[in-house]
Amino acid sequence: MREILERQGYHFVGTHKHSAVKTCLWLRKSLRGEGNCYKGKFYGINAHRCIQMTPSIFCNQRCVHCWRPLEAFNIAAEEEPVVWDAPEALVEACLKEQKRLISGFKGAEKTSMDVFTEAEVPEHAAISLIGEPTLYPYLKELVQEFHSRGMTTFVVTNGSNPDVIREIRPYQLYLSLNAPDEATYKKVSHAQYWSCLKESLDEMRRLKSSTRTAIRITCIEGFNMKSPEGYAELLEQANPDFIEVKAYMHIGYSRKRLIRDAMPTHSRVKEFATEIAERLAATSHYEIIDESEISRVVLLASPKNRLKLL
Ligand code: SF4
Repeated sequence: MREILERQGYHFVGTHKHSAVKTCLWLRKSLRGEGNCYKGKFYGINAHRCIQMTPSIFCNQRCVHCWRPLEAFNIAAEEEPVVWDAPEALVEACLKEQKRLISGFKGAEKTSMDVFTEAEVPEHAAISLIGEPTLYPYLKELVQEFHSRGMTTFVVTNGSNPDVIREIRPYQLYLSLNAPDEATYKKVSHAQYWSCLKESLDEMRRLKSSTRTAIRITCIEGFNMKSPEGYAELLEQANPDFIEVKAYMHIGYSRKRLIRDAMPTHSRVKEFATEIAERLAATSHYEIIDESEISRVVLLASPKNRLKLL
């Protein structure tokens, strides 16, 4: 399975190989001056200065839309206890590997050398690649380690570990909310963490004064694009700064589980985001503030939260 992931562009780093980095399409485009990812448009992240990494290729869910092979790396299936690398060594290994990965672009005809020079000094870590980062026992320290190097961090979690959410302080905390109710959650995630997820929503609300917060809903046609009122109720519980409503993308191993039509169009995503915003409007005043058609994602925020982007 490691070999399969390596062929897909995942590069394992560290001594115990539970972590990985991967350069994304947008980093390559950014180096060539061909555009930036939606996180650039929404949050000002430069794709060429972003390290996409995970400290844990393991996960405790088996989401139907996951890009990775679900047969591999489920934490409960591990026979041997995992030996975890220290955060300092992990950050060092990620920075080194990223530098090696982008080195091939140096001198290429389309590469802007000014942009390449910037890319050699990453300023952001997206702790979100595959797997569940809160399973890494030193996530708090890992985030601090990136920050101590002047970098910002995004942590994306499935919400199964509220205790970890309580203690970490990334620059932006993302929580994946892929169901409006418990039955749909089980159908999408094949896991039993609904009560933990709800607890994590409460934790997110408490964190708002100390970190920027976002909830991402990955829309899968035929699975979870229903009950906007159910989503609205859960979103109000967390009261995040931002809500991303995004299409499931028909890539990687998810193609073995879902048909192409499960990937909604941008207009369908926008329509669903509008329905959620309407349900939220009465109390929370969220509205659509941005969108990226190519990534099929719509950003909601309240006017007050919008100021946090400035
Ligand atoms: S939580 Fe993320 S990594 Fe885990 S199975 Fe779901 S999509 Fe995949």
